[in-house]
Amino acid sequence: MPDDFHQGSLFSDDIVREKNNHPPDDLAPRTPDGELPFSEADSANLNSLEPTEEELSSEELIEESTDLFDEQSLSSPLAESRIVTATERANLTVQEMNLGAVLGAAIGDAMGHPTEFLTSFEAIFERYGPQGVQGYELYQEQEDGTTFAPFTDDTQMAEIVLQTLVNGTDDLDKTMTEMASGFVQWYRNPKGGHRAPGNACISGCLKLEQGVPWNQAGGATSGGCGSVMRAYPFGLVFANDLEKAEHWAVEHSKLTHRDPIALASCAAMAIGMALIRQKKEVDFVVSEMVAAACRYCAKTAAMIATAIHEARTGVSPRVTLTRLEGWAAHEAIAAAVYIFCRHPNDPVRAILEAANSPGDSDSIATLVGAMVGCRCGLASFPEQWVTDLERTDELQELAKQIPT
Ligand SMILES: [Mg+2]
Repeated sequence: MPDDFHQGSLFSDDIVREKNNHPPDDLAPRTPDGELPFSEADSANLNSLEPTEEELSSEELIEESTDLFDEQSLSSPLAESRIVTATERANLTVQEMNLGAVLGAAIGDAMGHPTEFLTSFEAIFERYGPQGVQGYELYQEQEDGTTFAPFTDDTQMAEIVLQTLVNGTDDLDKTMTEMASGFVQWYRNPKGGHRAPGNACISGCLKLEQGVPWNQAGGATSGGCGSVMRAYPFGLVFANDLEKAEHWAVEHSKLTHRDPIALASCAAMAIGMALIRQKKEVDFVVSEMVAAACRYCAKTAAMIATAIHEARTGVSPRVTLTRLEGWAAHEAIAAAVYIFCRHPNDPVRAILEAANSPGDSDSIATLVGAMVGCRCGLASFPEQWVTDLERTDELQELAKQIPT
């Protein structure tokens, strides 16, 4: 175990406060093996198949306080929410699924951007009303006077990953070297400007620029969500080669994040996306995500499994998404899987639930958007969400380059 594993400064910089503006009082203690400890709610759920009393009382609380997450209130004005039918999904082409994944990820990122640093449901409802965010809140003006909804570093980096993979060869080392150069270029001059990039991503880019080999540039204890947020392209490009999708996604994490929780989360995301692209059913997809994570970090797998259980047993988002703020990689992937299990056929509802979650909302929503977008296709999103998105045409052209 490296000497620096227990240092609070590394933990605070790399794991919890990967985002520059995240409040320092959110620091959590670390276990002796350097992992984030499970919360009391985690332990309770691992020990029991039933929600705890605390969870049940919290659920009652949310039913009284807001109808945003009440399953009975679908008639409330959730923006254009609709269920995509099994027939519609069966008829989707591979290209429609690829477009849905790439645009869905960017839409989720842009939708979650305004709530990224709001740390509670109360803070979100106070600012955006009892329904929370219902559409793009942020718009930027272009030179020609038109406006667009900006996405963040999540999409900027995912775009580099995807572009590198579609241009790439079968040689892992060459492809990762190319990706490293793309990351350094992003760090120096991101398209559209910097959008709250994480410390671990910046640190990895600096090391890559200094010539550190790509598989050693990431911090050994960097376990923020900065690599899993950009891991979905591996599942799309290598949808028919699960072993490669997983292996390359894990290796790519090392450019910026080498902690086992980041590697495990990337493995889970790549496998999940590949299986969704293969039109596998939700239960199989998420159980294989747990298995993939477990090959690298048992605690990450357990965290995803707990989230699946909570989705299946109706534990309220108020409970699960307050616990899984998503700054750390395993929290982000677990939160995304929880939301995917709840709304696999309703992309609008899934993305809004993610965007209205406390913590790293843009990263949770980008993971959710990739998953539901792939499963339900591009046409499942409101047209305005697609047309108003930053560089929407460029992203669509890139998605069309993914092998079908
Ligand atoms: Mg972001």
